[in-house]
Amino acid sequence: MNSDKVRTFWREHEKDLVKFPCDLCGSSDSRKLNIPEKYGAESQLVQCTTCGLLYLNPRWNIETYDALYHYTYRSDVQEKEFAQELEKQLPVAARLLRIASGFRGSNKWERVLDIGCGYGALLWIAKHFYSAEVFGFEPDLNLANFCNGLFEGNILPKSVEEGIDDFISKRCKFDLIVCQQTLNHLQHPVKILKSLKKLLNSNGLIALEVLDFEAYTRMKGQRIQVDHTHYFTLRTLMAALRAGGFITLFAESDNRSGAKEKLPFLLPNRHIRCVSCLRPEALEGDYDEIECVELLLKETTPSILNKLLPRIKRFKNYLSGSLGRR
Ligand SMILES: [Zn+2]
Repeated sequence: MNSDKVRTFWREHEKDLVKFPCDLCGSSDSRKLNIPEKYGAESQLVQCTTCGLLYLNPRWNIETYDALYHYTYRSDVQEKEFAQELEKQLPVAARLLRIASGFRGSNKWERVLDIGCGYGALLWIAKHFYSAEVFGFEPDLNLANFCNGLFEGNILPKSVEEGIDDFISKRCKFDLIVCQQTLNHLQHPVKILKSLKKLLNSNGLIALEVLDFEAYTRMKGQRIQVDHTHYFTLRTLMAALRAGGFITLFAESDNRSGAKEKLPFLLPNRHIRCVSCLRPEALEGDYDEIECVELLLKETTPSILNKLLPRIKRFKNYLSGSLGRR
């Protein structure tokens, strides 16, 4: 985004700021954190004193954020550069899909939905490498048009909220829903997770990648951003997924792995990636034994863990084979 444009937009829409309770636990008690905003807006980051969720408060409503996205969000990228942007993002997209496919136990997806599909990198990989029929939402009209040229018109030029409502009303279901670096931009991320549950097949998976606040703030000179309405840590992300009705099969944090230099390609180095499902018993697979993931031990209850251990073990084998790490 362009700083001058963001500051102008902030000044013009300061009157639209609204106070919200915590989206995770509903509490209105919070403490202020003094981290400046990247583009010069006077956004205030707070932390819920009940559950620990970090969010901007006050912040704009959905309509004003939509206007921000239309006004400035991708204004620095020309249409002729969309294909280059897509290409740049392919390695990151490929990795998230590989992780999810480890739990699928297959290199084929039937129907994949990307909420906030941007330049379409993830859907491109899903279509060409995993033979999936792909769908997405993208509020930027130019980008939605670009993606519709690639994906048979299956991209709704709508916000995530509108797109989900549209698909729920049409009773659409998906094997995989991907939310790559989108959750922290949403006005009500926990509410959205609850809605996504309605779009997932019983043996479906949701793959998430989101900025890790702990890793992010550790980097020198970091700032909050007015478009990041929420900041997650591994703990609050797991809590949000549980509140949404999901059981997490796998989670990794770049912060905890501390292995920036070990990551292949142009991968993000300050994010959390996770794969979650509705019913672990509905997943198929035949699994071998190896060591369990430390994060999962911390974040998963013993009863769930007992059911999941065999699957995690096979997944670790899959990762070491396909990515050459761990
Ligand atoms: Zn809370």
